[in-house]
Amino acid sequence: MRNASVIETHALEYSYSKEAKALADINLKVNQGHIYGFLGPNGSGKTTTLRLLLGLLKPQRGRIEVFGQELQTNRQNILKRIGSLIEAPSLYGHLTARENLEVYRPLYGTSRERLEEVLKLVGLAQTGRKTFKQFSLGMKQRLAVALALMPRPDLLILDEPTNGLDPSGIIELRELIRQLNREEGLTILVSSHILSEVEKMVTHLGIIFQGKMQFQGPIQELYKVQQHSSRLLVHTSDNEAAFRALYHYRPMRMGDTLSIAIKDLRETAEIGRMLFQQDLDVYLLQPKVHDLEQLFIDLTTTPTLTPSHA
Ligand code: ATP
Repeated sequence: MRNASVIETHALEYSYSKEAKALADINLKVNQGHIYGFLGPNGSGKTTTLRLLLGLLKPQRGRIEVFGQELQTNRQNILKRIGSLIEAPSLYGHLTARENLEVYRPLYGTSRERLEEVLKLVGLAQTGRKTFKQFSLGMKQRLAVALALMPRPDLLILDEPTNGLDPSGIIELRELIRQLNREEGLTILVSSHILSEVEKMVTHLGIIFQGKMQFQGPIQELYKVQQHSSRLLVHTSDNEAAFRALYHYRPMRMGDTLSIAIKDLRETAEIGRMLFQQDLDVYLLQPKVHDLEQLFIDLTTTPTLTPSHA
């Protein structure tokens, strides 16, 4: 069932101290087959949320359901089905990729075949005698992912996996995450503080700032918010007459131009027509789409304005 719920949190709260809440009213929703990007600047509460989901912190308020079961009462069953990379695992510098995984194999009770399979999946099957300390950062990160994949999880949780990687390492990891979702049917929750690093791979996004969700929904929903926050720049032979004609669009004066919030291109055409009807010469009629990165910055610098979408 593709739409089955994999993670649901209900009014989750957490405080490390009496003075400040690290998380408030977090209602995370991740369904089967999603690649969910959990985004927010440093210190916004991502790791705290992920630690709660993995049972590494005890919830103080709210509920967590994973695979449709309460985490508190089904901890063992649930955790068996999750692979995670939340802190760098202990991998040995003097061992090869295969030898490193072999160290953990008895612990996970996995077969040799699965070990070979995960090495292939992460593209490290052909690294031969090369030891971990000779690996690039990207290769090291992929070996850590391989380790998380050993027990054949249904859900993979990755905390800032692209941190410190160079652009090609980021692209390789992004490809790997998409491939795991496509070929292994894995549901993936991946956190990051850089929108552009996850934008191209996620199906859904949750944006958190100061412990509160600012946005949650399919990535297309964010593009819609982006469209809605577009503006139209207008410059005519008589801007004061244009200002009066367009009054109900609530134009703002910006030097030589008027700036108008528009919902879609249809409104651009409508405004164009109104200006021509006023016999004004139109020098500029330019839609200015809000850059996605700017939207992310807006959402994560001012406390919540946009309700989160389910
Ligand atoms: P980063 O990417 O920097 O880890 P984050 O989004 O994962 O950021 P958290 O690590 O969850 O954010 O931190 C959320 C808030 O809780 C921050 O204000 C942080 O200072 C605080 N915090 C995190 N861990 C602890 C701790 N062990 N003790 C006290 N405060 C903590």
